[in-house]
Amino acid sequence: MGPWQAARRFVRTLVDMRGRTVLPEVRRVEVHLYGSLAKTGKGHGTDVSVVLGLEGRDPESEDVSLIAEAAATIRQRRVIELAADSSSSSGRIDFEYGRDILFFRDRMLDYHPNGLEFVVEFSGGDDIRRTYYSIGGGFVVEEGDEGQSRETVELPFPIDTAEALLGHCRNGGVSCSQIVRANMVAWHGERRLREGLKRIAETMVECVWHGIRATDSLPGGLGVHRRAPRIGRALLGDVLPASPQELVEAVSRQARRVSEAGGGFEQVTRWVSCFALAVNEQNAGFGRVVTAPTNGAAGVVPAVLLYYRCFVAGADWDGVERFLLVAADVGSLFKKGATISAAMGGCQAEIGVSSAMAAAALAEVCGGTPEQVMQAAEIAMEHHLGLTCDPVGGLVQIPCIERNTMGAIKAITAVNIALAGDPAEAIVSLDRVIDTMWDTALDMNSRYKETGEGGLATHIPINVIEC
Ligand code: SF4
Repeated sequence: MGPWQAARRFVRTLVDMRGRTVLPEVRRVEVHLYGSLAKTGKGHGTDVSVVLGLEGRDPESEDVSLIAEAAATIRQRRVIELAADSSSSSGRIDFEYGRDILFFRDRMLDYHPNGLEFVVEFSGGDDIRRTYYSIGGGFVVEEGDEGQSRETVELPFPIDTAEALLGHCRNGGVSCSQIVRANMVAWHGERRLREGLKRIAETMVECVWHGIRATDSLPGGLGVHRRAPRIGRALLGDVLPASPQELVEAVSRQARRVSEAGGGFEQVTRWVSCFALAVNEQNAGFGRVVTAPTNGAAGVVPAVLLYYRCFVAGADWDGVERFLLVAADVGSLFKKGATISAAMGGCQAEIGVSSAMAAAALAEVCGGTPEQVMQAAEIAMEHHLGLTCDPVGGLVQIPCIERNTMGAIKAITAVNIALAGDPAEAIVSLDRVIDTMWDTALDMNSRYKETGEGGLATHIPINVIEC
């Protein structure tokens, strides 16, 4: 997602450079991938996303079912249309994957392990280069802008730490979601905020629904089979729900039946696992997911959100909004205080953070006090500290897909512990666990930070097809 956004940002600078478009003067574009982006770029689809970004395609609206075909066409024709979405004249140039995308596996740029550079040669003989960093969760910074905040809105409740959020809650006698909502309304306005939350919630459920109904196999050559469709069929029977809404209703009905019969634990774990697997199998198959906080960890928050919608009595739309608001803010606490980039912090920054986000969100909608909400996030992260990133073959499949199920189940367990406890007795706060995560990230050997050079990545014999 980050490299895609970087490529889009870059071509937009060509559309408006020195007050005019310079696209027709572009003779050649070279993309240089550094560090972790180079080491796992093929498995993560970085080359494909960069090319689509150079064409100006929007990752949020692009028809994901056509991505593989679009990339294959570019590869075959050896031509790309720079900023094809722009109204100004676009630039059609020769482009060869093997020649024009360079993977510098042994070079790391200083600011961040996920660096990429665009080098443009103009017909007049001059050239320019721009460097970007993919800092996690689809966020991108351009060289020269590092450390600069894009925030232009004065928020009613500034939040940089969990303690600050708790302070606002205590002062106003309000919940975490009320504070976050007030900030988000200041930022986006009530209508845009509600539309955005609706779109996120719907995209999450659609992703699970598609994942359960999928029949294709996962790309990349590892031979990983989709398991969500199998589990979904085992739980629901062969006639699968015809829409995302029907899926929610069918699971909710089943949950009520089992609960009335006095059961539920096995069913909860199977469904939550199924939801998480469905999302991350979609991610591995280049389907549309909600980055939360990253694509590799995109299954945890939807799995716990669906747990709330299907298994928690009294779940409603207001709860869904509150869930997402709190999840987002906890993710941003980690982004501000540590990192959400596996290249910086290993998998604790992805699955660990997503689990903490989901735990806080679920605690909020299950009636937790602000202290219990923060405690749930703390517990979830505490037991992901040190989690390494070691994707086999550089693909976001092993251990990534299963790991989302663990993050989701741990989040639910963390909520049960937090709601049953007294936060006044807690010894570790969320802020301290964020500090610890960051220290652990700094100490972690780079082999375990999305380089595919340690752990499972070196112990599993593979034959990955480069596509
Ligand atoms: S191991 Fe974790 S951090 Fe690494 S790619 Fe997989 S999900 Fe992301």
